[in-house]
Amino acid sequence: MMPYKFSRRPEAGAKIRVSFEFFPPKTDEMAQRLWNTVERLSPLQPAFVSVTYGAGGSTRERTQHTVRRVLDETSVTPAAHLTCVDADKDEVNAVIADFLEMGVRRFVALRGDPAEGVGAAYKPHPDGYMNAAELVGALARHRDLDISVAAYPEKHPESPDFATDIEMLKRKVDNGATRAITQFFFDNDVYERYVERVRRAGIYVPIVPGILPVHNFTQMVRFASRCGAHVPQWLAERFQGLESDPATHQLVAAAVAAEQVLDLVERGVEDFHFYTMNRADLSFAICHLIGIRPQGEAEARAA
Ligand code: FAD
Repeated sequence: MMPYKFSRRPEAGAKIRVSFEFFPPKTDEMAQRLWNTVERLSPLQPAFVSVTYGAGGSTRERTQHTVRRVLDETSVTPAAHLTCVDADKDEVNAVIADFLEMGVRRFVALRGDPAEGVGAAYKPHPDGYMNAAELVGALARHRDLDISVAAYPEKHPESPDFATDIEMLKRKVDNGATRAITQFFFDNDVYERYVERVRRAGIYVPIVPGILPVHNFTQMVRFASRCGAHVPQWLAERFQGLESDPATHQLVAAAVAAEQVLDLVERGVEDFHFYTMNRADLSFAICHLIGIRPQGEAEARAA
């Protein structure tokens, strides 16, 4: 498609909900940055903030620690990501039990990528959950959980075709998933066509667009090629020549993401999931543009 046209603000009264995704920090410095980000974004009252889970459980403790801090120190609701990689069912069930014990009621259930990295052939653990659909089934045995799963507007790189891909999504929903969050994408027509396909397949859960504010275009292109997300030429042209001009890069990134989100709002989308990369500024600015303000600000103005 063409670059999005810059749309008007959402209709007054439109109910826009957002969620933010973080990854667990590896160092004290990264933890400090994450925590600054959480503090900046929490007042926007996200529906939830989710914390990713590394390959092979490599971040198990760090994911749990981050989720616990969100529970203990903020008023936002955490969602714990879980994967099936390199773990048998007992191990995964123990992680689920730990989260439930902590008071976590929201999960993002994923198969995960091979421990060797995206692109290597995925081998399920012989005694583990084979895929996300089975993991959803295990989670859904517990009552009253909110279970999100992944969806792929450009289909998962391992899917031979859209029919197979959507069949997997259907299995996840049939097993108890209540929401799908998409892989990031830049072409809103692709998202819209995907949602139509999903609805035709009889899947009616929300398909929440995953929005990636582009903090570093070069890194994003590398990542996109591994996870099957297409980077349109017009997007590359917008970032062309900005490799050593971080200030302009940030401004362009904010404008591009704002255009994408505002165009989706105009198409009727009301829920957005932001891949924050543990940074607040771009996600905060985009939320501002769609009318989401820190809680208390409006009341303070009215007073
Ligand atoms: P599944 O839904 O199980 O399968 C994905 C695809 O594989 C299917 O669409 C299908 O085409 C194919 N497939 C699988 N099983 C079969 C089968 N039996 N028959 C035919 N085809 C099959 N990764 C992490 O490691 N940690 C995270 O925290 C994390 N968070 C994510 C959050 C979101 C919102 C998204 C979109 C992705 C995330 N990922 C994460 C990446 C994800 O783990 C990878 O994309 C992984 O390759 C697939 O996971 P899935 O849950 O979609 O798998």
